[in-house]
Amino acid sequence: MGEINFLVVEMTRRCNLRCKHCLRGYPEPTDLDCKEFTNELIQAKINRINILTLSGGEPSLNVSGLENLLEVLKFLKITLNQCCIATNGTYCSKQFIQAIKKIFKYSQKPKECIFAVSRTSYHFESMRDIGIPLPSMAYIGYRLGKKLEDNLYTMGADDKFDEIVAEGRAKGFGIKLPEYGNVINMNVYGQVFSASELSYETQRNAEHRHLIDFIK
Ligand code: SF4
Repeated sequence: MGEINFLVVEMTRRCNLRCKHCLRGYPEPTDLDCKEFTNELIQAKINRINILTLSGGEPSLNVSGLENLLEVLKFLKITLNQCCIATNGTYCSKQFIQAIKKIFKYSQKPKECIFAVSRTSYHFESMRDIGIPLPSMAYIGYRLGKKLEDNLYTMGADDKFDEIVAEGRAKGFGIKLPEYGNVINMNVYGQVFSASELSYETQRNAEHRHLIDFIK
């Protein structure tokens, strides 16, 4: 049986913003292929995920994908220790919040789950350009409800980036971003990459791997 310490799943490549610092690149109209996600977990015989981060694109745009992902975890009886979601916070629909709450509740440590709202100056700039109002953290907190109030964090608000990776649109603008450590990334196609293969373009040119390749 396999265990993953840190898995980041790309829930969608869609996004309603166009941030200059985006390490992914321009949005693409593709959501997570749940069948491939399931196959990867089955082939690698995964029975436990320590930290699962739900990423994008903008994950709030794929609510049905979040609901399906939870069903897959339940169906395969995969123990989930902790879940984190990173959103730009502009589209916190009731359905999205409900889907996240259910995933947090399924985890072993709901209080340690993280609902992170990106609030860098690049996000604010993009929202202003597109004419989307700044998300109110108080409103998002209200939507999450009392029990999950403490799970709400802001991400990147200080714009202090130490370890760097410059990919996607960030590369074109010469913007450097933090590099995540020892992380396994799965994209919308169920293809698996190391932490350094982040932009859509880099992923297209990289060797496609499987979850089983990362399980010792
Ligand atoms: S940084 Fe996030 S919110 Fe901004 S364009 Fe990229 S995926 Fe969208």
